[in-house]
Amino acid sequence: MGNASNASGEVELRAAQGFLVGEEGRGVATILEMVSLTRFDCMIGSAAGMRMALSQAMHHTIQRWAFGRPLVQQPLMQNVLADLALESEAALLMGMRMAAALDTDSEEERLLARIGVAIGKYWICKRAPQHAFEAMECIGGTGVMETCMMPRLYREAPINAIWEGSGNIQCLDVLRALHKSPQTAEVLLAEIGQAAQHPAIRAGLQRLQQRLQSPGGDLEFSARQLVDEMAVLLQASLMLRYAPASSSEAFCTSRLLATGAHLYGSLPSQTEAQAILRRAWAVADF
Ligand SMILES: Cc1cc2nc3c(=O)[nH]c(=O)nc-3n(C[C@H](O)[C@H](O)[C@H](O)COP(=O)(O)OP(=O)(O)OC[C@H]3O[C@@H](n4cnc5c(N)ncnc54)[C@H](O)[C@@H]3O)c2cc1C
Repeated sequence: MGNASNASGEVELRAAQGFLVGEEGRGVATILEMVSLTRFDCMIGSAAGMRMALSQAMHHTIQRWAFGRPLVQQPLMQNVLADLALESEAALLMGMRMAAALDTDSEEERLLARIGVAIGKYWICKRAPQHAFEAMECIGGTGVMETCMMPRLYREAPINAIWEGSGNIQCLDVLRALHKSPQTAEVLLAEIGQAAQHPAIRAGLQRLQQRLQSPGGDLEFSARQLVDEMAVLLQASLMLRYAPASSSEAFCTSRLLATGAHLYGSLPSQTEAQAILRRAWAVADF
């Protein structure tokens, strides 16, 4: 369906000499060191896809006039674009935070990367296809034409979620990390807690702590629920620390406080959409 021009290959090794790169009998553990880096690639790739989709949507809506003004100035379109921008920024921040953890030589950061890469790989890759679709819809009919970039971005979007361990496998990996290294939970909660001055984070942390302490029911059956919660809280914490208040408040309100399924374009009315869009397009005004 997608990934039509990736430089992938299949190699046959005949009479080749091999060297053990890890401990005998611990092959899977050894290859997982590499796999966590390729899973990290998937997060970054999907975050990059979101940024490109947002750029395409912004570029189009700034130029296209409908109902007497540019689309980017229509309030409902501003809601959709601002929401796409928030998702893109939160994905980028999560990717960069995991990059820093993978690059740092401390036990806490190693533990954070251990659980955070699985959470991020699951969440960002899962959010990408809907993000690409909404960006495509911002462009309208032209967005589905093969002559524009959107069809390729859209077809590519699900692939990062499937390969290098699909969504369920990432969630099961989070459970494995929690079981084998319970300190991963402590490190994750501490990371989220860096923004605990915000009431939505405090409430979310409390919920997550309770769920971790007394999971109840079948853990595997509800693993996605658990990982969803971890992902959004981690992103919200990062937004509160690294993004301006206009963006982080809108992110927290729409992702932590709102009820019901989150579809793009449902930011609450107090959202400073213009500020979010100016930041996304790096302009003083439209
Ligand atoms: C374009 C492309 C390129 C690829 N390149 C490479 C490559 O270069 N090298 C390589 O080694 N591989 C490669 N792959 C393979 C890829 O890593 C696998 O396809 C992917 O990890 C999913 O595994 P699978 O296809 O065996 O699916 P399955 O393991 O059969 O999974 C099918 C579904 O079942 C779910 N599932 C599996 N186990 C459980 C469980 N216990 N509980 C709940 N749900 C479960 C999965 O999440 C998935 O949704 C590539 C795949 C694609 C699409």
